[in-house]
Amino acid sequence: MLSILGLAALWTLTVHEGVDARCRSQPGDSRFPKAQAWADLNSTVDGRLLAVVPSAKACADMGCTPAQWSSAVFRNTLPGQMNTYNWEQNYTSKPAELCLYNDTSSCSQGDVPLYAINATKPEHLQAGVLFASQYDLRVAVKSSGHDYLGRSTARNSLLLWTQYLQDVEFTDSFMVGGQDKGSAVTIGSGVGLKTIYAATKEVGKMVVGGTAATVSAGGGYTQGAGHSAFSPIYGLAADNTLQYEIVLANGSFVTANEVLNSDLFWALRGGGAGSWGVITSATMQTHSIFNATAHRANILFSSTSQAAAAMTVHAQHIFDYDELRAGQYFYVYNIGGGESLLQVSTLFANVSGDDAQAALAPFLADVQAVGATLVNETVVTALVNDIVGAADDSAGYSGVLGSRLMPAAQYEQNPSVIGAAYKTLLDQGVAGVLGHLVAGGKVLENADISSAITPKWRTAKTHVIAAMNWNDTTSPSDVVELQERFFAQNVPVLAAATGEGDSGSYSNEANVLEPDFKTTFYGPNYDRLSAIKAQYDPEDLFIVRAGVGSERWDISGMCTL
Ligand SMILES: Cc1cc2nc3c(=O)[nH]c(=O)nc-3n(C[C@H](O)[C@H](O)[C@H](O)COP(=O)(O)OP(=O)(O)OC[C@H]3O[C@@H](n4cnc5c(N)ncnc54)[C@H](O)[C@@H]3O)c2cc1C
Repeated sequence: MLSILGLAALWTLTVHEGVDARCRSQPGDSRFPKAQAWADLNSTVDGRLLAVVPSAKACADMGCTPAQWSSAVFRNTLPGQMNTYNWEQNYTSKPAELCLYNDTSSCSQGDVPLYAINATKPEHLQAGVLFASQYDLRVAVKSSGHDYLGRSTARNSLLLWTQYLQDVEFTDSFMVGGQDKGSAVTIGSGVGLKTIYAATKEVGKMVVGGTAATVSAGGGYTQGAGHSAFSPIYGLAADNTLQYEIVLANGSFVTANEVLNSDLFWALRGGGAGSWGVITSATMQTHSIFNATAHRANILFSSTSQAAAAMTVHAQHIFDYDELRAGQYFYVYNIGGGESLLQVSTLFANVSGDDAQAALAPFLADVQAVGATLVNETVVTALVNDIVGAADDSAGYSGVLGSRLMPAAQYEQNPSVIGAAYKTLLDQGVAGVLGHLVAGGKVLENADISSAITPKWRTAKTHVIAAMNWNDTTSPSDVVELQERFFAQNVPVLAAATGEGDSGSYSNEANVLEPDFKTTFYGPNYDRLSAIKAQYDPEDLFIVRAGVGSERWDISGMCTL
């Protein structure tokens, strides 16, 4: 067995000899750990090493119900699962390696990790990191498996699974370098938003979080930036993050904040999920609880031309809510035959139902004036934690996204360009165009915060996603073609709608095929991120697709290019 130093020396030698590819060890490779080594690791991690299977196989073996299959809360108990479970499949291997819900008779492992450490304390993760380094293994890091880019799973890998790091601890004065940062909550990296919202409600607080049940704030969410309907008031979730505790590639367990490992802290806030180490906890500012009002409206478009006109109207009204600092989700679903349904959900803090309705009235009048049909309108006021939270997330389906941060300037100057993009996308057959008014206000005002969040977030008004789904009967070759076509045809429509040549995209809800991901996801921060990566992860243990350093690796993260 070679020591870590021995392996590093061997790698250096082969590079110097002109053999430019380095491959991590895989089953069948003489360097891959033998059964005894895995058994020893299992003892070190208190028996918490698991053999991992694809979610469809796990579900079939335990006889789970269809409702469980599509429940993110239930799926969180399965180490192999991804919410969009196409990321568990390997469509391009010959033959394709699949394990599908509608047919588990011949399941392959696909891109599901081989083993997982079900960590309940940092020492488990430290042992996993050292083991992976010793045997030059591919690692994957997962909390909820929500990732839309498939970054929390990897073929032939050892999974460092943090779902069961579930501690939640409040303080009235969180100290960083002797400075009191005020009221905060420290959450384990497995804690889902639903749990945080319930816990903060108990103590009369709220945190900046998204509308989801199981997204992990201490996992990928803030590493990407983390948007919320309340971001126009409080900024992005990463702006509200005060500290991380993290296991690094060298096995050390460190704190990163404005004072300790401050360069790593800078990178962790927005520099891309999964590239830095294994976070065990994140500390976020808390804010006093308040009443929130959700105004919801469903609006039907009878043709894609009408959708264009209506979404131009929507774009013209996007600044209507600025004074009240409301956030809004505006999702257009393609229902076929040229028809589409806009679901607009506008969330206000400390605003009465009547005032919320008054704020929406000009938009609703103008959208009906272009022929759209207002199907219904509802208004609910409740504690913010109940308004923003979700009981569960829908999961167990296949699909991909593409997105762009839509500049405020484009809304001011060219709202009809944005509206026209909806027609093009719907005519192209996307499943939906999902808009998020989660920027401007405090997101812009926080531009002076030193973090790796792409500056495109600061000048954006909205984050707009195009989505495409497919079902289990789609052949592997069709899946590959669908994804390529989606990226080649649909995503450029969003990019063009920004009016920018160097448009930006939110790395957590985006397309993994972005060719210039360095600019699109990280903008001017990429060079500094690369330097920090070299310092904290010099051997590229933590590589995810479209993440910092991934340009050196093939798409499986197994061999250097
Ligand atoms: C239903 C749904 C709703 C969403 N709503 C919002 C929203 O309102 N606002 C928003 O901003 N985003 C939202 N997202 C996107 C979400 O921010 C990303 O999917 C995010 O990556 C999820 O992080 P996770 O840790 O929960 O997921 P995972 O799939 O477990 O991980 C995602 C990424 O984080 C890394 N990671 C996970 N755990 C750790 C860890 N402990 N240490 C280091 N790296 C880790 C993984 O390697 C991977 O790269 C939503 C997603 C879904 C599916």
